[in-house]
Amino acid sequence: MLEFDKRHKCFGCTACKSICPQQAIEMIENEEGFLEPKIIEEKCIKCGLCERKCPAINYNQKEKINPLKVISAYKKNSKDYKNYTSGGVFIELAKKIIEENGYVCGCIWNDNMEAEHILTNNISEIEKMQTSKYVQSNLKDCIKRIKELTKDEIKVLFTGTACQIAAVKSVLEDNDLIYTCEIVCHGVPSPKVWRKYVGYMEKKTKSKIKNVNFRFKGKYGWITPFSKYYFENGKEKRFLTYNEDVYLQGFSKSLFYRKSCYNCIYKGKKSLSDVIIGDFWGCPSKLLENNHNKGISIVLINNEKGKRLFDKISEHYIINEEVLEDVIKENSPIIKPVEENDNRQKFFEDLIDISDEKMVENIKKLTFNKNTYIKQWMYKLGILEKLKMNRYRKKH
Ligand SMILES: Cc1cc2nc3c(=O)[nH]c(=O)nc-3n(C[C@H](O)[C@H](O)[C@H](O)COP(=O)(O)OP(=O)(O)OC[C@H]3O[C@@H](n4cnc5c(N)ncnc54)[C@H](O)[C@@H]3O)c2cc1C
Repeated sequence: MLEFDKRHKCFGCTACKSICPQQAIEMIENEEGFLEPKIIEEKCIKCGLCERKCPAINYNQKEKINPLKVISAYKKNSKDYKNYTSGGVFIELAKKIIEENGYVCGCIWNDNMEAEHILTNNISEIEKMQTSKYVQSNLKDCIKRIKELTKDEIKVLFTGTACQIAAVKSVLEDNDLIYTCEIVCHGVPSPKVWRKYVGYMEKKTKSKIKNVNFRFKGKYGWITPFSKYYFENGKEKRFLTYNEDVYLQGFSKSLFYRKSCYNCIYKGKKSLSDVIIGDFWGCPSKLLENNHNKGISIVLINNEKGKRLFDKISEHYIINEEVLEDVIKENSPIIKPVEENDNRQKFFEDLIDISDEKMVENIKKLTFNKNTYIKQWMYKLGILEKLKMNRYRKKH
């Protein structure tokens, strides 16, 4: 069972594990660091449910992406803008569901700085879901637990990537109690690469990392964030998100995503989710000015259920209608998978047995060039930021 090209096609979404009536499937890390299902032969009764529910095997959507409505949104009260990545749409959706006695399922950093999904109705836990964790999140047993909650007529908001939503939908089918909020995603990095990077940073700083914000809104605001690492010994390290942070440079150059991301089957197709949220890159300069560069979301409302949900929180936002064709010009991952980095295979071959330091060196070698260093200096002198702002001004 589950005999398909797992290395290229599996998303590690846990649908098979969640549906198996015999608990005969374990998720095991492959040598690239991604979870893949493994059948425990002694327990398997060959019922075939895992294959029938596998979203990677069974997806056959032909309809193109066609949201009911596309809007930009940023918060009227933006006191908490440093807590969220884009325009802070997720947190109000979550609060609304909690207000209605529901639960929220989303991604947090656990105590070992791994990205994992949790299911909770505790607002301080939900706040930990804020900010993008640029690594593949482990869904663990969330799908099973969502099923239990819905049996008791409890609502759940599930947030995650398109493939994770596909898993939820495949196992739990259409259920009015489950709301789905998709995060625009251009690819999920390997948890092993992230783990080794954490190891490298911790050794260098001689302290454990207790939190990371990859999209810290510092002096250049939302459009040019910093990454910020918080250590247990009280130290903090801050890097320009791209060009300076080695991990994020590898991330932005598509060096270590899951293989299936480069051919993401959900891109450009009618979405399975109720709403999709992302960054409104390349927004009109007037909007950026009014928002004081604190973060603007793009929201694709995919169906009536999504519309009803968003209507309940719309009072918190300044909202404008947008045109999808214009939005994707600056944010192609909404409809297109990113291209695989030519060095990906070599990078993972070398990864099998190298130290954390050597891995960081390899990422640098493969993704940094003269331009990277020039850009670092131009940012430091404020030149690149001025050019970026001018580009926004010229466009609109
Ligand atoms: C790997 C990745 C790639 C992305 N690529 C793009 C892109 O190319 N273009 C774009 O417009 N936006 C992208 N985003 C989405 C964007 O960064 C914001 O997460 C989104 O706009 C929500 O912003 P917010 O202010 O409403 O949410 P926040 O308050 O910041 O909440 C973050 C939300 O993201 C979820 N989340 C965080 N990390 C993960 C993860 N690893 N896996 C699944 N869910 C996660 C949380 O559960 C929460 O719901 C990406 C996000 C991730 C995690």
